[in-house]
Amino acid sequence: MQYDVARKHSPKKNQWSMTEFMNLQTKPKDIAIDRSAGNLKITWADSHVSEFSLRWIRANCPCATCREERRAAELNTDILKLSSGPLPSTQIAGAELVGNYAVRMTWTDGHTAGIYAFTSLRASCPCSNCHPEGPPAFLLL
Ligand SMILES: [Zn+2]
Ligand SMILES: [Zn+2]
Repeated sequence: MQYDVARKHSPKKNQWSMTEFMNLQTKPKDIAIDRSAGNLKITWADSHVSEFSLRWIRANCPCATCREERRAAELNTDILKLSSGPLPSTQIAGAELVGNYAVRMTWTDGHTAGIYAFTSLRASCPCSNCHPEGPPAFLLL
């Protein structure tokens, strides 16, 4: 009983609003895919809008397989690139939320392993406010 009273009077409220404030930047209010424009548009809870090209999203797929492929391509240069198969699809089949922290992209070639954390996407926002020096080439973690 005493425990309950103590909890009611603890300064939980301040902690909560601080967390809530920080979440606004990495919490999507709306996620829209424009297939004809080839864009993924995320409107964040703080009303900031990030527009990513699907080509960029796919090129930066954070799954282990794609990361390994990119690493190998960097090390082995052109010969490997020439001999590798068709380019991965940049046509999106769907996107689904993973918990409340990430979005999983499904591409039309069946690749579904890429899980993009909202913190990464927000950090990589290509707009000129977030990155005056130009959009990041890679997904920032
Ligand atoms: Zn991947
Ligand atoms: Zn931005």
